[in-house]
Amino acid sequence: MRQIGHFIDGAAVAGKSGRTAEVYNPATGEVQAEVALASSEELDHAVQVAKKVQPMWAATNPQRRARVMMKFVDLLHRDMEKLAEALSSEHGKTIPDAKGDVIRGLEVAEFCISAPHMLKGEFTDGAGPGIDMYSMRQPIGVCAGITPFNFPAMIPMWKMCPALVCGNAFILKPSERDPSVPMMLAELMQEAGLPEGLLQVVNGDKEAVDAILDHLDIGAIGFVGSTPIAQYIYGRGCSNGKRVQCFGGAKNHMIIMPDADLDQAVDALIGAGYGAAGERCMAVSAAVPVGKATADALIERLIPRVESLKIGPYTAGDDVDFGPVVTKAAQQRINGLVDSGVEQGATLAVDGRNFSMQGYENGFFVGASLFDNVMPEMDIYKEEIFGPVLSVVRMNSYDDAIDLTMNNPYGNGTAIFTRDGDTARDFSSRINVGMVGVNVPIPVPLAYHTFGGWKLSAFGDLNQHGPDAFKFYTRTKTVTSRWPSGTKEGASFSIPIME
Ligand code: NAD
Repeated sequence: MRQIGHFIDGAAVAGKSGRTAEVYNPATGEVQAEVALASSEELDHAVQVAKKVQPMWAATNPQRRARVMMKFVDLLHRDMEKLAEALSSEHGKTIPDAKGDVIRGLEVAEFCISAPHMLKGEFTDGAGPGIDMYSMRQPIGVCAGITPFNFPAMIPMWKMCPALVCGNAFILKPSERDPSVPMMLAELMQEAGLPEGLLQVVNGDKEAVDAILDHLDIGAIGFVGSTPIAQYIYGRGCSNGKRVQCFGGAKNHMIIMPDADLDQAVDALIGAGYGAAGERCMAVSAAVPVGKATADALIERLIPRVESLKIGPYTAGDDVDFGPVVTKAAQQRINGLVDSGVEQGATLAVDGRNFSMQGYENGFFVGASLFDNVMPEMDIYKEEIFGPVLSVVRMNSYDDAIDLTMNNPYGNGTAIFTRDGDTARDFSSRINVGMVGVNVPIPVPLAYHTFGGWKLSAFGDLNQHGPDAFKFYTRTKTVTSRWPSGTKEGASFSIPIME
């Protein structure tokens, strides 16, 4: 059995804890590797190595640090096929989607090439008599990232690239479900010229996470995953005095107004609802048509499209719309939620529960389901299903649709489909959700903007990537200096005022 250890001090090393987790090929249901689960001692060793080399890296000028990112981007392009293959085999997503996962991460590495500009700081010449004042952004020291299974390339890169380019050392604790790509990323970063010991991949579960949360030498933690774990990590990390940002789960609503281009809306719902088997934090899981006529027309068009979705293993090539879900447990949970929707009175317009893939009967496949007449009190509405299940929640008016979205506890992404500029503008302005699409179903901001939700979808005050990432991974120091230093004014007992 292939063993996946950790990446520490510039090399792949075996785990020492004696604990491992199984890594599956979701398409076949077979165990393809075992990943080591680090002990708190192994985590501490990784931190100590990182702590030793970090000051040298912080003293390396930002342009040189940015050059590592340039080279890293080249290497990602060189190894794109290899990365996508490894990613799909552990996650289950199609190869084009796996490449998208790498590319959205790579774009953040590209943005990080702007570090010399982003880290320039501020200067006031002559803030007082003979006094200059300047602010600089300095690295935090050792930072850590804890990442989910659903984007095993993109999200580790969203964390490690800004942290490293700002002059920090970085400990990555990826999902134990698909650890191979994060290990490959660490090797590529090293090949790109990152000095050994600055990027450590420590595989593990709760034990490694808790060791990160309690470690005195880790100054900042970035987390992405489900909301209950985000809340736990935010609470424990903050109470230990760390800077913490946590991005959690989602329930993304897409409102379809009576004046929307219905063909465009249906295309959008099919891609955003079922792409990656619904395992995206920006997946649309609630379609909210306004008015009976819109809802009836939408359902009529959606049914044949959902029924004809092509499901299969990533090895089947580009002809597959989505692959299996990540684990057997996820498959059972999703099917159980579909059962609950039927029991609680929703109309199951397309039933994906008994889907079976010929030749892949043990794979974790789930067919596409479509619900109509979903009510806000039903579990299929309240839960983040994280599977290929779309719920149509009919609303009578725009105001009801916007209230539904606003009252939902999650606030990651949302979209409105309309031809009316007034409505789109009102929606964008009033909605209490962090990322908004107007006739765009998955409004994931590009690398030079920031990514983050509101309400239970995010904890902490700074977003991921974009300018916020440079703020999160640095702290500000402001220097007030007077030259010549010989000026004598005598002691003053009042607060200094620059006049
Ligand atoms: P998860 O919360 O189960 O796991 C995320 C990370 O936390 C993993 O590294 C895991 O090892 C660790 N973890 C799990 N249980 C833990 C525990 N009890 N104590 C400490 N650490 C623990 O999430 P997942 O299933 O890997 O990913 C799917 C979730 O991530 C979905 O809810 C999705 O919406 C969310 N997500 C959010 C965003 C965003 O930006 N808001 C992006 C991607 C995914």
